[in-house]
Amino acid sequence: MVLLGAAGLLEGQPAPGARPPLTVLSKSGRQVLPVSLVNGAEMVPLSDLATLFRLTVREDAASGGLIVAQGPRTLVLSTTQPLASVGGKVLSLSAAPVKSGAAWFVPLDVAGRALPQVVESRIDLRRAARLLVVGDVTVPRVRVRTESDAGRARVVLDITPRTEHAVTQAPGRLVVAFKADALDAEIAPADRSDLVQGVRVAEPGTSLAIELGPRFASFRASDAPLEPGGTRLTIEVAAQGAPVAQTQPPPGPATTPAPGAAAEPPPVVFDQPTTAVRTIVLDPGHGGDETGATGPAGTLEKDVALSVARQLKAVLEARLGIRVLLTRDGDQTVPLDERAAIANNNKADLFVSLHANASVRGAVTGAEVFYLSLDEYGQDVARQAEPGGEVLPTLGGSDREIGLILWEMAQARHLEDSATLAAIVERQLRARVPMSARAIQQAPFRVLVGANMPAVLVEMGFITNPNEEKKLVSPQHQGEIVQALYESIVQFRTYLEGGRSTVPPIRPPAAPATRSAAPTPGNR
Ligand SMILES: [Zn+2]
Repeated sequence: MVLLGAAGLLEGQPAPGARPPLTVLSKSGRQVLPVSLVNGAEMVPLSDLATLFRLTVREDAASGGLIVAQGPRTLVLSTTQPLASVGGKVLSLSAAPVKSGAAWFVPLDVAGRALPQVVESRIDLRRAARLLVVGDVTVPRVRVRTESDAGRARVVLDITPRTEHAVTQAPGRLVVAFKADALDAEIAPADRSDLVQGVRVAEPGTSLAIELGPRFASFRASDAPLEPGGTRLTIEVAAQGAPVAQTQPPPGPATTPAPGAAAEPPPVVFDQPTTAVRTIVLDPGHGGDETGATGPAGTLEKDVALSVARQLKAVLEARLGIRVLLTRDGDQTVPLDERAAIANNNKADLFVSLHANASVRGAVTGAEVFYLSLDEYGQDVARQAEPGGEVLPTLGGSDREIGLILWEMAQARHLEDSATLAAIVERQLRARVPMSARAIQQAPFRVLVGANMPAVLVEMGFITNPNEEKKLVSPQHQGEIVQALYESIVQFRTYLEGGRSTVPPIRPPAAPATRSAAPTPGNR
């Protein structure tokens, strides 16, 4: 940790009141920026900002200003008024700069509002968290609150923006690890209970530790979208004898352990074989700037995918009463790895990624169903990931590198189920919509690799074909696809519940492409 030197204050000057310093987070690490209270405003030494952002500072007596520059970009601070000028625009500040001895102090909002217009790096001042975030670093805001009542506790984490995370159990605590450079955590104080004793940021600052009390028995974590662009992670913690998330506390003394009789918490099982379909994650492909394929009339793949996903969610919820989550519920960018992470963190039993296909040859048409090909990921992966193996896919755990390697294996253990699901989907689609000559295929799609449940990717048709483009936007055709996927999920559920004994006829995947280009995992 580098401590920036505070500018020296001359003796005899009123000593500015010290305030909690800011932590400056950047790709090069953490630094401390001292903050003083001068005339009621939080101020930082201008020389420290100059060091931090490689600024030149010059006093211009003629104009009564401080000229702060990085390369050709210039910021002028009035020394007499709380004003700054940048690029011909005047900004009002909370206070005018103050000279103390030879050093200038400037209000914090110079760093938060004025410098971002001069400096090339992104600058984000988070005053409440005492953070100055510089450049391309991932520092999600995490608001934590804990609610407890008899036999249960709930820790709710509102994470913005959406950031990959994993919840794991360690002795005496649950650890929520984030794929981030640091956390901007705001932890609401809560009473200590015999389930959850507190929440704190754990070293090296990218995870939260939920300290568990003696009655802890089990937990369940689930993610839900939080607008705009965030995630709400809810961790339900149950006492011994109390089912997780039940609405009534368990009756009486029978379930209350004697004081000091804290047993070892049972291990948390993440990978029970799927025997039911309770939660489904639908993944509308692409989104935001990433539009996916475009049809000749301008239809965007991302819009077709979202439309079908929303309808399928409504149908599944209404008819089956199961929980259906979308990896995106609007037009936003979601990284590929995060899509599978959403399914894993919500313990989804099925993952269906929805896309529309593209070909340079406009004549190509028909729907296609994909499941993962391990070719690109190697035979070792398949072997290590066999059921009974010790592979436990997690993300962003304490050892990120290992976490990511294991994560890549997640789908391998579900390939048989995924092949069955693909076969069912293919048959249901074939009954309703035109299919491609290669209706079932295996491909190394990135979005499927990390999914720790049966997973398929459906290319609903070729948006690059003018006729199929028209169909893909028509409510009737979308309705046929929704119906086919709904029937597929019902049938797959029957297959799982029947102990996988009623194997539907499986059409073998097509041989590697000879007529058209093999699919590339690029954006899927
Ligand atoms: Zn796509």
